[in-house]
Amino acid sequence: MAAIPNFFGKGEPVFSFEFFLPKAPEDIDAFLSGVRELKTLDPKFVTLTYGAGGSGRDKTIETAGRIRAEIGVETACHLTCITHSQAEIAAILERLKALKIENVVALRGDKPKDQEVAPPGQRDFGYARDLVAFIKSKGGFGLAVAGYPETHPESISPEDDLSRLKDKVAAGGDWVITQLFFDNADYFRFVEKARALGITKPIVPGIMPVTGYSQLKRFTAMCGAKIPVEMTAQLEKIQADPEAVIRFGIDHATKQCRELLDRGAPGVHFYTLNRSRSTSEILARLRKSL
Ligand code: FAD
Repeated sequence: MAAIPNFFGKGEPVFSFEFFLPKAPEDIDAFLSGVRELKTLDPKFVTLTYGAGGSGRDKTIETAGRIRAEIGVETACHLTCITHSQAEIAAILERLKALKIENVVALRGDKPKDQEVAPPGQRDFGYARDLVAFIKSKGGFGLAVAGYPETHPESISPEDDLSRLKDKVAAGGDWVITQLFFDNADYFRFVEKARALGITKPIVPGIMPVTGYSQLKRFTAMCGAKIPVEMTAQLEKIQADPEAVIRFGIDHATKQCRELLDRGAPGVHFYTLNRSRSTSEILARLRKSL
C-alpha cells in the first residue's frame, strides 16, 4: 500500500514541496543540499517534476531515488506520458519500485516543441487518465493527478475539464494537486463543483510564492493562470526592487494559504522553484497560527 494518500484525513494540514531537476548535472549536489534544508520544515512528501521530452528524464528518476534514500523524505516522482510507450512506462515503474518510490504524480504533459507527437488516439497514452489506469493496473503506487481551478488551457469548457478530472480520479487518482492560482475564489469554486460532480478525493491547492515579476508573467502565460489586477498593480510598483517582490510574494502566499486552510483545504503543495527562503518563511508563519 502506497504511503502518501494515507497522510490525508488525519486532521493536520499536509504540506508538500515541489522541485525540478537542475539542468546542469554539476548542480545536483547543491540542489540536494537545498532539499535537505527544506526537509527540516517537515513536509509530508516532496515531488520532483519530469520533462515531457528530452534527456533529463533518466536523471530525474535517479535523483528522486537519491532524495528518498539520502535525505529520507517521502518522494513522489512526476511522470508524463505524452511521448512514452506502455513498455517504457512499465520499465520506469519497475525502476521506481526498486528505488522505493511509492507515489507518482501522473500527468499527460505538454507537447514538446522539439518532437513530433501522435494524436491522442494513435499513441499509447492519449491522456493522463490512461496513464493513471495503466499504473493502477500494475499496483503498488499512490497516484496524484493534476486539477485546474482556472480550467486547463486546451479544454473546451470548465465543465468538460472537470468531467475529465472525474475520469482521472475514477481511473485511480488518489488525490488531486492543483495548478497554481492567486485568487482563492477560483479554488473554492473548483472544489465545490468537483464535489457536486462526485469527486471525493483530497484536492490540494498548489501555491507558488512570487519571487520575480517577469518570471511570474512567464509562468502564468505558460500555464494559463491569471494574475489578479490588484496583484499586478502592486507588483508594477515594486518590480525594480527584487527584495520587495520576494517580500510581497511571501505575504501574498501566506494570506492565501491561511484562508485556504481555514476554509478546509487539506494542505498546501508549494511550487518552491527550488528556492527555500519563501517557502520556509511562509510555513513558519502558518505554523504559528495553526
Ligand atoms: P490531462 O488530464 O490528460 O488533460 C489534458 C487536456 O485534455 C485537458 O484540457 C483535458 O480537459 C483534456 N482531456 C482529458 N481527457 C480527455 C479526453 N478523453 N478527451 C478529450 N479531452 C480530454 N508538466 C510536465 O511536463 N512535467 C511535470 O512534472 C508536470 N507537473 C505538473 C504538476 C501539477 C500539479 C500540474 C497541475 C501540472 C503539471 N504539469 C507538468 C503540466 C501538465 O503536464 C500540463 O498541464 C498538461 O498540459 C496537462 O496534463 P494533465 O495531466 O492535466 O492532462
